Amino acid sequence: MTEHSDIFIIGGGVNGTGIARDAAGRGLSVVLAEMNDLASATSSASTKLFHGGLRYLEYLEFRLVREALAERDILLSTMPHISRAMRFVLPLDPDMRFDTATPVSRLVPFFRGRRPDVMIRAGLMIYDRLAGSHSLPGTSRYRLRGRAEGVPLSPRLSRAFEYSDGWVDDARLVVLNARDAGDHGAEILTRTKVSTILRKSDHWHLTLTDTTTGAITIKTTRCLVNAAGPWAGALAQDVAPTPGRLRLVKGSHIVTRRLFEHDKSYFLQGPDGRIIFMIPYEGDFTLIGTTDLDHASPDQPPVISGEERAYLCEMASRYLAQPITAEDIVWSFSGIRPLYDDGASSASAASRDYHLEQSDGEPPVVHVFGGKITTHRKLAEAVLDKLAGHIPIGTPWTATAALPGGDFNGATPSEMVKKLRKRFPFLGHAWATRLIHAYGTDAWSVLGKADSALALGRYFGADLTEAELRWMCKSEFARTSEDVLWRRSKLGLKLTRAEQDALADWMAAHMQERGTNGTYPRD
Ligand code: FAD
Repeated sequence: MTEHSDIFIIGGGVNGTGIARDAAGRGLSVVLAEMNDLASATSSASTKLFHGGLRYLEYLEFRLVREALAERDILLSTMPHISRAMRFVLPLDPDMRFDTATPVSRLVPFFRGRRPDVMIRAGLMIYDRLAGSHSLPGTSRYRLRGRAEGVPLSPRLSRAFEYSDGWVDDARLVVLNARDAGDHGAEILTRTKVSTILRKSDHWHLTLTDTTTGAITIKTTRCLVNAAGPWAGALAQDVAPTPGRLRLVKGSHIVTRRLFEHDKSYFLQGPDGRIIFMIPYEGDFTLIGTTDLDHASPDQPPVISGEERAYLCEMASRYLAQPITAEDIVWSFSGIRPLYDDGASSASAASRDYHLEQSDGEPPVVHVFGGKITTHRKLAEAVLDKLAGHIPIGTPWTATAALPGGDFNGATPSEMVKKLRKRFPFLGHAWATRLIHAYGTDAWSVLGKADSALALGRYFGADLTEAELRWMCKSEFARTSEDVLWRRSKLGLKLTRAEQDALADWMAAHMQERGTNGTYPRD
């Protein structure tokens, strides 16, 4: 008799891998298929914030904000390597007038064209209150003159609020969830597309296509989870039609050389009532985003337009002492938000909350619509709750469990950097810091018994060595240079074209040598 897995998950983004990790850790047999690389779609294109979403307060989404804030604190504590608390500076612009009605001005017409300081202050107080008393430092208010936060800003800005939220390396979050799922016994299949799905009397029958070789395999499962992100809507209609629909909303970011010296971010309001963030990024850079534009199809790759570049430069320049132009952009990326279609009028007003749908009948299927990086762990628990009547779902465990490498036992990242340099004295400070923020306690395994930089094998530039590449291939499902340079790291920003080409050659040769059967690598 064929052995069915308990759960089969379609999609290796943050939601799919989060569900796989949780389910595998509860002892369920789990298979996950991702048609490209892990985090190759929306989950590597976010603003990378673990946040309650200050702006959602204007849409009166108090439950979403409260839950996301509680989650923010849980996540920051279980992954101290890839995430950190961050302060956000909100400069008050005395000249700001909004061209459009803000959500609150629709409720209180007196506020038309304005978002008064008193209202921002009230919003921040509610935000602090919803976060609870054990949370991150609360809101403060200060004059910008004479402070580092004021240095990059236009001199016409004199006052600012400051509040707390969290930052995370989104793509590494996905990879580490997948790794932990694999360590708990899940089968993680990358470059594997679920091409046909058949509903049988007591199980699902799935045809999988290896997107590199074209090879076909069959899998069967008791429960199906559709976590296909932007593709989830179309997939749901194919599998077992549900009333749920997705609204696809493109968001783009630009990256410039570093625009300021401190480690805080900026929260900037625009005259269209929208907000954007300006965030310190990868040491030498600044990340600016995002936009909100309806997008036609998940199969149309999201690409930043000239208008989006101009919009982001213009919005940031309103606040900066030295305006930026499209010429300052060194990199950009775009993603598609798979939002649950709640019938909102504009793309930015559409709810960011997640929505789960289960179609009637046996065998069960759960469709995931929407959701945020911040709510992925909670969403995983909710998906498993939905399957409770069909398989024994065990008990939740992820709220207190460190993600791989995140077991710092109360030490701070800088203490871990010191410890790593003590064991491997040949590491420079910047190198050790990058390794701790990427791998945490696994940095010791990445470096092995090396007693010099030479012992780490070939050097590819920007402190990237063969030892690290081998780790990414063996333990993190990397297969191509793009997986390495733009997802598991952002070293694509630092390596020259020639260095990137050399890395691509090494990866191709290494993969050929290893052979790829698309399964979780355990050698
Ligand atoms: P995805 O990451 O898209 O994963 C779905 C996967 O399914 C894809 O990798 C795809 O290849 C795969 N797939 C599809 N069909 C198949 C198939 N047939 N077979 C196999 N695989 C398949 N959230 C926050 O919390 N904080 C933020 O700061 C934030 N900022 C954002 C900014 C932008 C611009 C965007 C676009 C989103 C942002 N989000 C943020 C939201 C968050 O990024 C998304 O909600 C989340 O990444 C969605 O994850 P997912 O796993 O559902 O989808």
